[in-house]
Amino acid sequence: MVNFHIMTLFPEMVLNGLHTSILGRAVQKGHISIEAVNIRDYTQDKHGKVDDYTYGGGAGMLMQAQPVYDAYQSIVDQIGQEKKKRVIYVSPQGKTFHQAMALELSGEEELIFLCGHYEGVDDRVLEEIVTDEISLGDYVLTGGELAAMVMVDAIARLVPGVLHNDESAVTESFGNGLLEYPQYSRPEVWHDKPVPAVLLSGDHAKVDAWRLEQSLLRTKARRPDLYERYQQMHPPLEKKSRKKKEAAEG
Ligand code: SAM
Repeated sequence: MVNFHIMTLFPEMVLNGLHTSILGRAVQKGHISIEAVNIRDYTQDKHGKVDDYTYGGGAGMLMQAQPVYDAYQSIVDQIGQEKKKRVIYVSPQGKTFHQAMALELSGEEELIFLCGHYEGVDDRVLEEIVTDEISLGDYVLTGGELAAMVMVDAIARLVPGVLHNDESAVTESFGNGLLEYPQYSRPEVWHDKPVPAVLLSGDHAKVDAWRLEQSLLRTKARRPDLYERYQQMHPPLEKKSRKKKEAAEG
């Protein structure tokens, strides 16, 4: 069970997006919970302001420390001071998100996401509360909501019970360090293109071998970086036995 707490100025945006389909069902079944905390609810400004000009000048407004900190404290009060928690600031300046990170975070119980907006967030509050700064990629979004939604989705589907078939997360792209093999559904022939015969053979060993081969070919063509890493971690059998032989011969 992972509890996701998303600090945002746009709670309806993240809740609408994340309470649908597979994640919506996972929430209903109690495998995960997703709550949005509206940072604006915690401002002490009588006009409800949460942003102000940046010291030193420059374009744009910055989210102020006080409402962000108080919104964070409300979550801490709810889950307990002592409870282990990760606080993720989604930011273009963080480490780039990837599947292994999603897997690692899926083992946590309490994940707090902070979505910035405007020019970002006053650095002093980031220093105090953030444990991880994670980016979606090398581009700048208007706000952190879409980034947090992507990360919550990728993490949540790795929480046991969320996917019907837990195996699918393992065989999917990145699960074993490779891109997934091509897949086909009915009909057997579409636009004169037949489904590869091996998939209709009923021979599971052959199907597995074909799928691995296709995964390797696809990864080599599309993501040579992943292929290289996979090759280093899984040296071909002949190479292994040659090495063993060489070692035995001294
Ligand atoms: N001034 C900031 C900078 O140059 O690093 C960019 C601020 S951006 C316009 C506003 C907010 O969007 C950020 O505080 C962050 O939460 C979110 N954001 C923007 N790009 C992102 C990315 N690539 N990954 C994750 N979050 C991002």
